[in-house]
Amino acid sequence: MKKIVTKFGGSSLANSGQFRKVKEILEMDPARCYVIPSAPGRRFDGDDKVTDLLYRCHSQRLAGDESWRDTLDTIAARYLDIAEELGLKVDIGAELDTIAANIEAGAERDYCASRGEYLNGILLADFLGWRFMDAAKVIFFNADGTLDAEKTNVVMMALLADGLPSVVPGFYGVLPDGRIHTFSRGGSDITGAIVARAVLADTYENWTDVSGFLMADPRIVRNPREISAVTYAELRELSYMGASVLHEDAMFPVHKVGIPTVIRNTNNPTHPGTLISLHLPVEPTVPTISGIAGRKGFSVVAVEKAMMNTELGFGRKVLQVFEEAGISFEHMPSGIDSISVVVSGEALEPHREEIVRRIADLTQPDVLSIHDHMAIIATVGRGMVSNCGTAARLFSAMSRAGINVRMIDQGSSELSIIVGVDDADFERTIEAIYNEFVG
Ligand code: ASP
Repeated sequence: MKKIVTKFGGSSLANSGQFRKVKEILEMDPARCYVIPSAPGRRFDGDDKVTDLLYRCHSQRLAGDESWRDTLDTIAARYLDIAEELGLKVDIGAELDTIAANIEAGAERDYCASRGEYLNGILLADFLGWRFMDAAKVIFFNADGTLDAEKTNVVMMALLADGLPSVVPGFYGVLPDGRIHTFSRGGSDITGAIVARAVLADTYENWTDVSGFLMADPRIVRNPREISAVTYAELRELSYMGASVLHEDAMFPVHKVGIPTVIRNTNNPTHPGTLISLHLPVEPTVPTISGIAGRKGFSVVAVEKAMMNTELGFGRKVLQVFEEAGISFEHMPSGIDSISVVVSGEALEPHREEIVRRIADLTQPDVLSIHDHMAIIATVGRGMVSNCGTAARLFSAMSRAGINVRMIDQGSSELSIIVGVDDADFERTIEAIYNEFVG
């Protein structure tokens, strides 16, 4: 039978009305038999996310500030309201009392944060009449906090093998010593992907409050188009470049076994959303842009030396300096007699002098310069790199907008064209590229 794993984000489960929508969505397709809930999110502008309140509650308790009790009351009210409005039978009050006693006794930060998903999972399971599977029984971390993917997969597979519809709360799991541990923020996406892999789902649906990914940041481009289908590799480029997409680690478990992910909107459930898969259902015959994303605040360390290309080990020496300083490089375009190393400006700042000195000592360059405040923009898509017309269009669009291209980086990936411009030109560049290819 077809199996769909569904993850619902915080805004999708922020109040009883949203719980009802979730139930309707699940009832629309009986293949939707696993749910991963987040903690209740914001109900309106200016509202608090329950996870933020839980972190606050923990720091207040740690500081000996008695207002942690008020914060916990605010959190409790969110769950009690949902339970009452949906007429649920489960004794959520008893769960809240246990949590209060544990916080009083000095419970750890991750335990506190995880209770948002834990309680929401209990309520949702009761509302749906499904089994509640505590994530502490099926998600295992190593002592260093990394996921024990193999143990998790084996245990989860076994415990979910009976095929009973189940609710597995997102975001947390258990350490070898029994303490609760969480993923980083937004980590319910990862739990969903792990469950999808364990049950060998046909699809992993990630339900949120937008109808899929946008081709560009809507703060820069007005009403950008949605991306209807994208590959995991393209999405990885877009998210690396700063597009806010799924939690980075949520792609890996499903990508690995070829399960497609679909981003859907709980508030607009008939919208098809964005499909992310290994290969696209239909490969485009013409060059197609999937999205444009970028980041500001890079520095470029440029090293020039005549006959550099014949000097064995030149590149290694330059990179060694960055490695010694603990700075990872993002890009490294090179010419015949020059290498540019693009690094985060913030990471470079404390090591600036040492880097210049070390490179000078090791490589005796003719010119060594640093250019700060640079933005990197990736135009990601298919069939565009091999098509010479695409690059020409991209650069003429930039030139028409009067933007100076400071760097071009092609890499060996066929998926993106990367340009470096001054930070001040960042927004205009994205707009110009979008308008050329999409607008
Ligand atoms: N509730 C957690 C957070 O706010 C995890 C999640 O929603 O995915 O980060």
